[in-house]
Amino acid sequence: DHARVINFGAGPSALPVTVLEEATKGLLNFQQTGIGIAEVSHRSKEFQAFLASVEASIRAQLDVPPTHRILFTQGGGSGQFSAVVYNMLARYRLLHPERSAADTVVDYVVTGSWSKKAAEEARRLGGAQVNIVVDSKQFSESGKVFDRIPPHDAYKFSEDPALVYYCENETVDGVEFSHEDSAPASFPFHLLQKGNALAPLVADYSSSFMCRPIPHLADHAVIYAGAQKNIGPAGLTILIVREDCIVDVDAAARLGAAPVPITMSYKTLADAGSLYNTPSVLPIYVAGLVLERMQRHGGMKHYEETNRHKAEKVYAVVKKGEQQGKLRRKVQEGSGSWMNVVFEVVGSDAEKKFLEGAEKRGMKGLKGHRSVGGIRVSLYNAVTEAEVDRLVDYIDNFINE
Ligand code: PMP
Repeated sequence: DHARVINFGAGPSALPVTVLEEATKGLLNFQQTGIGIAEVSHRSKEFQAFLASVEASIRAQLDVPPTHRILFTQGGGSGQFSAVVYNMLARYRLLHPERSAADTVVDYVVTGSWSKKAAEEARRLGGAQVNIVVDSKQFSESGKVFDRIPPHDAYKFSEDPALVYYCENETVDGVEFSHEDSAPASFPFHLLQKGNALAPLVADYSSSFMCRPIPHLADHAVIYAGAQKNIGPAGLTILIVREDCIVDVDAAARLGAAPVPITMSYKTLADAGSLYNTPSVLPIYVAGLVLERMQRHGGMKHYEETNRHKAEKVYAVVKKGEQQGKLRRKVQEGSGSWMNVVFEVVGSDAEKKFLEGAEKRGMKGLKGHRSVGGIRVSLYNAVTEAEVDRLVDYIDNFINE
């Protein structure tokens, strides 16, 4: 279809055309029920079976152990900024009924705009002291930008935090943890352990969910992601929650923890099989089709390999552009995101020219986030290697011009 362009947008973002075609059929008639997916009851046996298959697909592809539940909710990544605080503070209160807000700490690793926002929400909600474990801005040359993962010795974890929070991939700043434990830009999992297998580690995987395996998945208390990057439409949020973090929030409230809004309680979601109230039926459907396709294409192994190649190709041409004085990388080597590659085009009006040229060639969504400017290339699962080659060709021509 000539009307479709290559979409390098950061989210909502590209979805596979074959899935969209399949979804249009489901919009009219979901699994021979004679009712469209946006019209069908979430309690119908057909939808419940579909939901179970979506969960099974995530569990199989990410190798989620039986210690962890997979839950579906709404409210996006931002909703979880609040929900993780509520649920993890309730858990902490049940473990330590004697401790007040003054002697409860939540730890935040700040490596970009989204983890910063999450820390601000924790501060807003109160109920604990917010400890900034590390603020990576302080390591940048200007002291003002998020351009790297900080060195391991800079992390100052608290003694017994109610949660330890990090954002695996910073969508705006293009900074991501390395998945090689030995790399300087990896998350320092080894500093958390100290013999405590139940460290309350929380990870925002919104923009890197299911683009490759999740390292140390079983060591996480909560992993969450909005669906609208790699998986499907906005409106669906996916949670992977360790059993001990699904707590009776009302019992915690009786001990002095903040009451938790009923739809934000992980126990509400878990007890009802993610059907306490009406879920986002249509986004779940599209996500299910995407996941089914991913499994057919070889799952995480395939996507890890493809996504590695895609990112390598873009970083290589950007590096070349930098050597020629035409482009400028914004993130330190080793800390660059696989999903969101950010750079600047050098020269007045050059960025505008770059974006116009791309659009003329059928490539959109390349403008950086409004808060930081520049160019951002998002390389989510549905962006093919051939499409990346088109962009790389364009960048190569642009810098040689
Ligand atoms: N975390 C990350 C890493 C994100 O990229 C985003 C959205 N781009 C959010 C959180 C917020 O998600 P939402 O818009 O779904 O609330």
